[in-house]
Amino acid sequence: MPPNNKKKRKSINANFVKRKKVEEKEREKREKERKRREILTKHLAALQIEEECDDDEQDRRGICKEEVFNVICLMIDLVANRLNLKDGGKDVPLMKKTYYTKVGTNEVVQQSMQTANGVQKGVKTILEERELWDMLQGRKLLLCPNCRDGNPVGDNIYCCARRLLSEQADFKQQKEWLAETVEGAGHSIIFFPKFHCELNFIEMVWGYIKAKLRNEGLFQFQELLLRVVPLLKNEISISFVRKVSRHCFRYMTGYRLGLHGPELEFAMKKYKGHRRIPPDELQHIHEQLDLS
Ligand SMILES: [Zn+2]
Repeated sequence: MPPNNKKKRKSINANFVKRKKVEEKEREKREKERKRREILTKHLAALQIEEECDDDEQDRRGICKEEVFNVICLMIDLVANRLNLKDGGKDVPLMKKTYYTKVGTNEVVQQSMQTANGVQKGVKTILEERELWDMLQGRKLLLCPNCRDGNPVGDNIYCCARRLLSEQADFKQQKEWLAETVEGAGHSIIFFPKFHCELNFIEMVWGYIKAKLRNEGLFQFQELLLRVVPLLKNEISISFVRKVSRHCFRYMTGYRLGLHGPELEFAMKKYKGHRRIPPDELQHIHEQLDLS
């Protein structure tokens, strides 16, 4: 075969492969879009059903409550930072519906966070519906330079759209999902301070379990799974739990007295048998540590 012909065939092959790749990409894109639309339609239908129909009607229409619940669970809480200025956008999550008080009145209005087509509303649409968009100052930006740098200026919440929206009562009061779920079920939730495992006695129970497993020569995760339930059920006594919780309370009293670092460690050791670090002994603790 003459060399020219060979070159030609090579370039034809390369073009063919390239075209195939482009077609493949387009097909993937179309498929992705189709799936997105499917989810949106499903989601809108689920919301409508939840709002409009009672349980019996839902049963009659053969609607799986679990499915409706799953779709609603996909929606996230209100976070202004995740929204674009305009409606929709790539990777913008769907948000749950909310209620707000109309400007200058006491009227509470429900606001859906999606347009009629199932697209997530942008900051502009949300503010326009609340009659707040025109109150923005200057060029009506999504994010002003000060807010972008993390230094919002004083009390002026009308500097940019995102700040104005995030300062609205419903967005501001948005609790973290765990707190909202637990409190919604009628319980109260108290968080431990971050990075202070010495205040959480469950950490000590876990430490005890790990030490026990190491002593038994069990180092595999599967072995741990088999052993952990019997250990928790039978081998962690109530007196052990009381002991470790007292230990945590002793730490708490130490922090409340203003002790920390070596002073706190010293006091924890010295008053091991006590329920709390005695406040009268504070002077003594300081003296002891100064001497050493
Ligand atoms: Zn701003």
